[in-house]
Amino acid sequence: MPRVFVQGNPMDHYPRHAPEAGRGSVRRITETGEDVLHKPCRDVTEFGPDLAALIDDMFLTMYIAEGAGLAANQVGVDLRLFVYDCPDDRGVRHVGHLVNPVLESQDPAERRLLDDIEGCLSVPGAAMDVPRPDRAIVRGQDKEGNPLTIEGTGYFARCLAHETDHVNGRVYLDRLSKRERKEALRQVADRREDVYARRAANIEAIGS
Ligand SMILES: [Zn+2]
Repeated sequence: MPRVFVQGNPMDHYPRHAPEAGRGSVRRITETGEDVLHKPCRDVTEFGPDLAALIDDMFLTMYIAEGAGLAANQVGVDLRLFVYDCPDDRGVRHVGHLVNPVLESQDPAERRLLDDIEGCLSVPGAAMDVPRPDRAIVRGQDKEGNPLTIEGTGYFARCLAHETDHVNGRVYLDRLSKRERKEALRQVADRREDVYARRAANIEAIGS
């Protein structure tokens, strides 16, 4: 079994950070409560250098914030697009971007939900149990507009579902009970400053 899949393709070797990050600039990450995170994003219709540059910025921003995935509205851009660098339950690493993602619906009778800890760069400092299907298939396009289907299991399935939620205007807090949501926001209040300090330190480390 290959250890890394990039855009769904097995690779023998891959650097620690996707090369996109080396071309990108760090962007501000939006936080829950900001409008752009709570409405469905627009379809990407232009596949050109601007889209490629946005993907570069998103990879670098994701790494700086130590995330496993990042959607465009998390950097304030109202487009259906996400990037990811995420392990699955077998320790296989998945790296890539997906444009105009649509999560394939599953037969509720065959669907298996797993509870696991989930966090979000737009809910800084919180981590909560969220039920998600144990596998996910997402159809979309790559940055050139070619059709692309990405399939994931375990934690990578969670990542694909979480990021597709983002482009549909949902954050994981929307999947929690009122009481759990309150707990998550309490965690944010406690840890937010530490999270931001760590991101600032990571930017320093990259700049030096
Ligand atoms: Zn998120």
